[in-house]
Amino acid sequence: MPQLADRLSRIKPSPTIAVSTKARELKAAGRDVIGLGAGEPDFETPDNIKAAAITAINGGDTRYTAVDGTPELKAAICEKFKRDNGLEYTPEQISVGTGGKQILYNAFMATLNPGDEVIIPAPFWVSYPDMVLLADGEPVAVPCMQSNGFKLQAEDLEEAITDKTKWVLLNSPSNPTGAAYSYDEMKALTDVLKRHEHVMILTDDMYEKLVYDDFEFVTPAQVEPSLYDRTVTMNGVSKAYCMTGWRIGYCGGPAPLIKAMAKIQSQSTSNPCSVSQAAAVEALRGDQGFIAKHNDVFKARRDMVVDLLNDCPGLNCSKPEGAFYVYPSCEGTIGKTTPDGKQISSDGDFVTYLLENSDVAAVQGEAFGLSPYLRISYATSTEALKEACERIKRACEALSE
Ligand code: PLP
Repeated sequence: MPQLADRLSRIKPSPTIAVSTKARELKAAGRDVIGLGAGEPDFETPDNIKAAAITAINGGDTRYTAVDGTPELKAAICEKFKRDNGLEYTPEQISVGTGGKQILYNAFMATLNPGDEVIIPAPFWVSYPDMVLLADGEPVAVPCMQSNGFKLQAEDLEEAITDKTKWVLLNSPSNPTGAAYSYDEMKALTDVLKRHEHVMILTDDMYEKLVYDDFEFVTPAQVEPSLYDRTVTMNGVSKAYCMTGWRIGYCGGPAPLIKAMAKIQSQSTSNPCSVSQAAAVEALRGDQGFIAKHNDVFKARRDMVVDLLNDCPGLNCSKPEGAFYVYPSCEGTIGKTTPDGKQISSDGDFVTYLLENSDVAAVQGEAFGLSPYLRISYATSTEALKEACERIKRACEALSE
């Protein structure tokens, strides 16, 4: 057994990937499992984007590129920020990485010293705290209650900021809750951040395009332009353009930080895939019409899932503004007993019960830092979702006091 590095003991494997793996194994063993753990759209990458990639391959776009993105892609990203967010960035302020994940990782690696704190509203995307830990920082989780729409409150943010706070990490719409901040809600937070000049803001806008009911997406540097110089605005093509496998994420931010992030990337992965970069140019500049079509489907599924879950005894589900997740409370199932005599004492027990008894795979809220909840992804077919909700209802009804 090789001697492993100490840093490995600080982190855990992604629990969402663990759930998908377990569901896949059960399926392979012949069980009719419905996976509600997916973190990716169930739609294919649009044809115009695929075609741009094929053209890139045939045209010889097959070599190393500039470490943190081709000039064409950086130009397309500058246009996107201006068009969608009213943010002016120059190419020196843009970094392109292998997925949004690498952008976040680079930003932490480039800035955190031991003891530096990163404020992370909980529930959070599972990778945030572990990425901070890998970079020697201290994640500081701030609970965000369902009664506040799972959104960070200004007074809680104020209280969490210390002299050691390096970053505040915001994610709207959120994975795992789907919660998105309105202009007023974001302004309440940027008003606090304005007063703490040593704090940098990292905003994960990965689900920007996936909002419903005419909700208007906003991002911190747009709401409070005085924060522009200390904000990193992260985004990517993975979710809105159905390109999770292509691995392209990007950010706009202060040029010296962008340069430092490129230095890290130059000694780890170098450039993101050249073909994927060409495809991302088409994604950002090409026809955007399919996004509204996908959103119509997502919205209908969200509405259906929220209604069906609220019909399950013991569950309580809020209707979120965006992304493709809901985050129902399973508090009403805690303390109950399953038909084979096991007590449900945590959200982990509840999702295990759903998987073992009903062949439904969801992820326990504990993985996202707020219990007792579970995350359900509705990025799966409407029929499968309906069937899954019916199974969940039967499973809830079968619990006894
Ligand atoms: N940020 C959030 C909130 C996510 O949910 C994800 C993916 O699940 C990412 C970032 C990472 O995106 P990418 O696949 O581009 O690395």
